[in-house]
Amino acid sequence: MNTLPFGRRKVQNQIPMTQIQTRLIDGKQRAATLIADITAEVGRLARDRNLVPGLAVVLVGTDAASEVYVRNKARQTGAVGMRSFSHALPQDTSEAELLALIDRLNADPLVHGILVQLPLPAAIDSAVILDAIDPAKDVDGLGQVNVGRVALGYGGSQAGLVPCTPLGCLLLLQAELDSLRGLHAVVIGRSNLVGRPMAQLLLNADCTVSIAHIHTRDPAALARQGDILVVATGRQGLVRGDWIKPGATVIDVGITRIMTESGKTRLVGDVVFDEAIGVAGAITPVPGGVGPMTIACLLRNTLTAAERQAAA
Ligand code: NAD
Repeated sequence: MNTLPFGRRKVQNQIPMTQIQTRLIDGKQRAATLIADITAEVGRLARDRNLVPGLAVVLVGTDAASEVYVRNKARQTGAVGMRSFSHALPQDTSEAELLALIDRLNADPLVHGILVQLPLPAAIDSAVILDAIDPAKDVDGLGQVNVGRVALGYGGSQAGLVPCTPLGCLLLLQAELDSLRGLHAVVIGRSNLVGRPMAQLLLNADCTVSIAHIHTRDPAALARQGDILVVATGRQGLVRGDWIKPGATVIDVGITRIMTESGKTRLVGDVVFDEAIGVAGAITPVPGGVGPMTIACLLRNTLTAAERQAAA
């Protein structure tokens, strides 16, 4: 595999774009490696320091997709040897009731990470809830303190907990490219969950960063400048082959469930995958790209949070 950064992929840059051998970025395999490392570290913590990281996941209401995510998170948390605490609250839970639960979890020494599954019912202000989570336990990295730390580029003891999906994307990019420094990264999407933190992480990694969103006038022209292209819009098939700079590394975050002609459903991304092949230098598939990294990064953040709390 060519591991040179984009700017140094001399061979690829000299051949016609139709002959580019696009590599698949195997998020499943990368996530499995990360989870194996986490499992080993959790075992070491339990053995040497009698410390078992604990993750509390809070679900309000009965959204079917959220229920699946929460079940998966609980299963994988247990599988790496961490404690898993699940709190399922009814749809009509008030903001005050949810805040009271967050307070209890903030004070619980067995809980090192707290994740409130989004979206919350309309009667609850997500920002109020996310900011009520102790920043040290905010393993989704969506509260003001962690968002601020990431935006300020803080490292070391002041480093913020980074939102899981963009962290997973960054780890995939770092594994794919020797160095991100100086590369032009184009992020399509500006949500608090993915696009904005992704752009901050790429800036912190010394990329030149452009952000496109729903009001961007010519997103295709901007996208074509990206040595790195991260797409997080939820608009199936938005990015066509001619949006991609030949040789670029493409991270497709989008997930849309579609019905196939055979009547079965399948997941697709925001990039027209078949058109990207032969143009992109490397691309994440959907499924099997970013998705598996997100849960692995949640476990990594929980481990980080537990280690920091034990050291405090
Ligand atoms: P969101 O709806 O909050 O934000 C979408 C963003 O895309 C917005 O900033 C909007 O301005 C931009 N956008 C929409 N249409 C556009 C267009 N035509 N041109 C340019 N920009 C456009 O969504 P989100 O929470 O950021 O999630 C984005 C996608 O990523 C969804 O498909 C979601 O399911 C997926 N996702 C995947 C994972 C994972 O683990 N793989 C995690 C989180 C989100």
